[in-house]
Amino acid sequence: MNNEKNIEEYMDNLLSRKSIFKNKSALNPDFIPDYLPHRDKEIRELVEIITPFVLGNKGSNVLLYGKTGTGKTACVRFILKALSNKAKSHGFNFSFSFSNCRMDGSEYRVLVSLGSQLGLKLPFTGLATAEVLQRIVSFLQKAEVRCIFVLDEVDCLIKSSGDDLLYELTRINENLKVPLGIITISNDISFKEHLDPRVLSSLSEEELIFKPYTSSQLTDILQSRSSLAFNEGVLDKGVIPLCAALAASEHGDARRALSLLRVAGEVAERKGLHIVDEECVRTAIKRIEEDQSIELIRTLPLQSKIILLAILASSKDGTKATSGEIFSSYKNITSFMGVEALTYRRFSMLINELEISGLIEGKVISQGRYGRTRFIRVASPQDLVTRGLSEDLLLHDIMDKLSLLNLPLESNL
Ligand code: ADP
Ligand code: MG
Repeated sequence: MNNEKNIEEYMDNLLSRKSIFKNKSALNPDFIPDYLPHRDKEIRELVEIITPFVLGNKGSNVLLYGKTGTGKTACVRFILKALSNKAKSHGFNFSFSFSNCRMDGSEYRVLVSLGSQLGLKLPFTGLATAEVLQRIVSFLQKAEVRCIFVLDEVDCLIKSSGDDLLYELTRINENLKVPLGIITISNDISFKEHLDPRVLSSLSEEELIFKPYTSSQLTDILQSRSSLAFNEGVLDKGVIPLCAALAASEHGDARRALSLLRVAGEVAERKGLHIVDEECVRTAIKRIEEDQSIELIRTLPLQSKIILLAILASSKDGTKATSGEIFSSYKNITSFMGVEALTYRRFSMLINELEISGLIEGKVISQGRYGRTRFIRVASPQDLVTRGLSEDLLLHDIMDKLSLLNLPLESNL
């Protein structure tokens, strides 16, 4: 057998394989389907509430809330798309702007995002927030456009910046002939406590609650999405009900159900199977959990990564380490890296944060007459933690050195 023949055979195999997916993007979280099962009532109510704005009249601002994956963003996007098309066919000057406050991240970026979608040219930095707001107001005054602003995941904005911007936005109408509508969406209901009562009453002239989906509702949702995403006959009978049941056992999150289904399809594809079976779903759960842990590690600040590395190195081969021992490994690593070491107090605070995130765990063990000692070790599988940490180039040299010599940390340095 030569290489060329190998490759040829491999290619033939790939090409003859019936593909699992027809259109994988139909399972993406930002895909908006033409039909959203089990949200007829919410969609109808929302259309009733916001249609006056499309007609150029004063409607009610509306606040939507419910846990993640209950279809809030999808329903609002779906409705605004439909209303825009309708408005266009009637020749109405209607426009909407959408900001995901978590992704936009600051008051300034939220405003730039809203304004840019109106067609305004706004720099990404450099202006005062008040100036950007003023430009948006002037535009709305002049253009006399019928407009709706959507502030999605608004709880994140309030956590980071308070409710000043929301206050300003609720006052815009005082200066406009054509009323502006505001839709706010939150995954977290407690955010209302952090709002000034005037802002709250203005934003929540109407309120809509999105309840978590039940397992059988999730089954319908998955069924309708899977017919767009998968080729016919590739899903084993039990796959959709299993994904639905697993997602419903947490809080009826359609996003989680869809991502389980997507990853299960990818697992089948990678294994070269023609059918997605329940085993693929079980592998998918593990894959998703692993990806979440790696993402968690990837986004840690450098000091926390170094502490995690010190714990990893100290608890290698099942040895137990106290926080004092870990602190000394940590200091060795920082000095090797040329990074300033934190005080023991700050180090302990970061250890606590790592414990809360679930990446590490502490265990108190009785040492007989020496009393009780608290040991700390890595809680996620070690290869995952190693993979997560090794993605940081700053840690490469030290990790190389540690695993190269494969000796306890203290003697390595
Ligand atoms: P939320 O904004 O409440 O966190 P999303 O609207 O982003 O949730 O929904 C998460 C995912 O689930 C998206 O991919 C969305 O298209 C899908 N989804 C939610 N509800 C439905 C539904 N009723 N029918 C079809 N897909 C849905
Ligand atoms: Mg959302």
